[in-house]
Amino acid sequence: MASAVSMGELVALRPLLDWLPGETLFSLCSRYHFISGHRTPAQTCATLFGSHRAGSAHDVPSHVQTLVDRTHGALGTAREIILERTLLPFYFPFHPAPKSEHWLTQIATGSSPVMKAQLGLAASQFGASHPLKACPVCMQLDQSGYGVAYWHVEHQVPGVHICQVHRKPLLVATDKVSGRDRFGWILPQQARLQSSMDEEFFWNGDHHLLAESALAFWRLPRPFAFSPEKLDKLYLSELVRLEIAHHVTSRIDQIRFDQTLYGVIAANSLTKFWPWLASTKGLRSLSARLRRMVHPTSPRISRHPLIHLFWIALLFDSWQDFWSAYNNNEYLSLYDIAPAGKTTGPTMKGVGDSGDPRRARLVEAVRSGQSISMAAKQSGVTVATAMSWAAREGIASPRRPKVLSPDVRVQLIKQLQRGIDKTIAASAAGISVESVTRVLLTEPGLHAQWREARFSRMQEQSRGSWRKIVEAFPTSSSSDWRKLDPAVYAWLYRNDRTWLQTSIRERSEPLAVATQRRDWKTRDAVLAQAVRLTALEWHVAHPGKRMTIGIICETVGGLRQKLSAIAKLPLTRMALLNACSHSLAKASTSQKTVL
Ligand SMILES: [Zn+2]
Repeated sequence: MASAVSMGELVALRPLLDWLPGETLFSLCSRYHFISGHRTPAQTCATLFGSHRAGSAHDVPSHVQTLVDRTHGALGTAREIILERTLLPFYFPFHPAPKSEHWLTQIATGSSPVMKAQLGLAASQFGASHPLKACPVCMQLDQSGYGVAYWHVEHQVPGVHICQVHRKPLLVATDKVSGRDRFGWILPQQARLQSSMDEEFFWNGDHHLLAESALAFWRLPRPFAFSPEKLDKLYLSELVRLEIAHHVTSRIDQIRFDQTLYGVIAANSLTKFWPWLASTKGLRSLSARLRRMVHPTSPRISRHPLIHLFWIALLFDSWQDFWSAYNNNEYLSLYDIAPAGKTTGPTMKGVGDSGDPRRARLVEAVRSGQSISMAAKQSGVTVATAMSWAAREGIASPRRPKVLSPDVRVQLIKQLQRGIDKTIAASAAGISVESVTRVLLTEPGLHAQWREARFSRMQEQSRGSWRKIVEAFPTSSSSDWRKLDPAVYAWLYRNDRTWLQTSIRERSEPLAVATQRRDWKTRDAVLAQAVRLTALEWHVAHPGKRMTIGIICETVGGLRQKLSAIAKLPLTRMALLNACSHSLAKASTSQKTVL
């Protein structure tokens, strides 16, 4: 019985159970499941976690301490495994530190069946499942580098829809979502992976901001926790700054808010991930949920990180912008902080600040015709404070212009000159895409500059992606390169053909050599797998004994003859080293020389 496997045997299997870079706990266990030859997922659960149903959830693990004990801590502590090898730290910064600690203990020592409900996932429109995700380029590289495609933890974090390394849209697995297979073990090669978004959408969107911020949440050190009240105030102050909320009453211009929100959803093709956002009802419901958080009299907090990702995409240009704004606390000076438990909304503090010497200077400057934002800058106060001081003196706030204000127009033109997408520019300026097009076509020379800048960006991205493929697979044929990224190939073929053809012509070596190399690669992968399986069977049959190359050579046909060419077989070399790592210290000189 697998459940009767002793600790000693698991420790002997340890070289085969080492982490791959950035691998998830679920991935390592799935690899173990396939190498072990167990017939049912329950056998692997029992061997690793001590119970037939334990540990196979790919998002919220359980009984991690049992795995740690059975591997004598070789994989790290339970805490390290949960914090570094699962997506869960994504949720922790939005909950009080003691609560997160409680979950950590529960998952380490047993299970936490109510954790998803306590995180508010079950009740949220975003759902409680975390579909497995994989990058097609990482899969290829892992297959050739490690002999197996595995699940990367950074791809699994909610809100991450692209691979940050290869800038490719992630593929989404339909397995493990519900039904009986949710108890199974699976690796990317066996999963039913579907493309999550069109390349065209991908190039136009701003997925990097979402992915960057989601990963930043995931990486925040323990025991950091956001103050939900501070976040709500930060969002409101930004809305005031962007003139989406009124500077005195804090009331939100719902039409502008919804337009901006829609811009973010469209630019990031978020309806692909959350189809309910495509309906008017879904959009309204999200808008209402966000606006409730900045309600002037009874704001509500939200502890769902995805809701905060929406805010960041709505209001900030980068994670860094958001993070410095959150930490500099400047926005708090705009409001009286309501005592804990009191539900009255924030009230503008600057309004009654008649003693501040800057106030008279600022009011004077605005009266003499200076713009509010310029006067605010010169006085060293925020625009929101400047507006409230001016309003107190009876100076009407500038009405939102029917045409673009000169400041916004200058900003918009700068962004368009850099080749920014029209949808994003429209969202940032709070105007329609049609208005952006009008500016593009009416400002002399701007349309040509915009097209040129967009071309350069696409060219840089496409050439970069192509170079990475060529470098990663130097001996593959150009048609193989093309298959690895058809969209990049198509773009280069249409727009940058001379460069593309040169890169293919100037490949590092002739094709005949490449074919030979490919044969070695295939041979290497097959031999390495044979070595791993032989080692596994031998360790199970001889717990605690030392493995030697001689023993492996007796079983793996043709291996002995290949040892003289081991330099050409890196995967086999690695598999041999792993298999014999217990005995290497005392290994014979000849064995050391070979490896
Ligand atoms: Zn990747």
